[in-house]
Amino acid sequence: MERKNIFQGLNKVVVKIGTSVLTSSNNRLDLSVIEHLVEQVCILIKEKGVKVAMVSSGAIGAGMQLLGWEKRPAEISQLQAAASIGQSRLMRVYERFFRDEGINVGQILLTRDVFTMPVRENNARKTMQTLFELKVVPIINENDSIAVDEIKVGDNDTLSAYVADLISADMLIMITDVNGLSCEDPKKNSNSKVIDLVEDFSKAEQMVKNTSTSGCGTGGMRSKVSAARYVAERGIYCVILNGKKMWSITEAFKGENIGTLFLPSNKR
Ligand code: GLU
Repeated sequence: MERKNIFQGLNKVVVKIGTSVLTSSNNRLDLSVIEHLVEQVCILIKEKGVKVAMVSSGAIGAGMQLLGWEKRPAEISQLQAAASIGQSRLMRVYERFFRDEGINVGQILLTRDVFTMPVRENNARKTMQTLFELKVVPIINENDSIAVDEIKVGDNDTLSAYVADLISADMLIMITDVNGLSCEDPKKNSNSKVIDLVEDFSKAEQMVKNTSTSGCGTGGMRSKVSAARYVAERGIYCVILNGKKMWSITEAFKGENIGTLFLPSNKR
């Protein structure tokens, strides 16, 4: 199927935004990038009738900024405190930009145990369904200020894959700061060619075996490919797009050949 047809057929998507996109090089929230991403999400909602749930990182980064910390602390309690401060700052930013577009947002903070307990999982699903009915955009993050190892998902690439499955999304859209999956680390070689389509996950996994995680976030290409595989096995498309490039989401919806598209390996 052509890219254009795939994107035109989408009804419900999860848009995952990583810390590397939300923050600039000096670790501050990059408000103009966030505003532009919100603008594009609102176009999908208003002009295309797509239901969008967002998974946003950036809580720890935003907390560090408010506390004036330049280096990510190693101490868990300090990370949790930073997340608690940063999460409300992050929501304030989203709330403001969505309100400018006449759209309300709702915050949902999850931990891994929600996905392992049917009652809790069902509650989370119902809440998100109700938010969609109310035309409200759920903004999801891990509940970092209370999550400890036993109940932690650990990174938002994985969390967004769980959410996509939970709400039976048609596509997981991962917004990051590189153009997509490429043969070489684009941080080391800016000319590295982006793979536009992935059907064979074992090949893709081989390519990212040695890649590193980036800056402030906890993800990286490896966790993105593994999240893509998780959703593909459940019949859900996945695309990796560069959020630092203008209009990357709306261009992808027009069928432009940008980013890396992963095809589902199973039917729903
Ligand atoms: N939940 C973390 C935060 O909001 C980010 C995790 C991740 O980057 O994958 O800071």
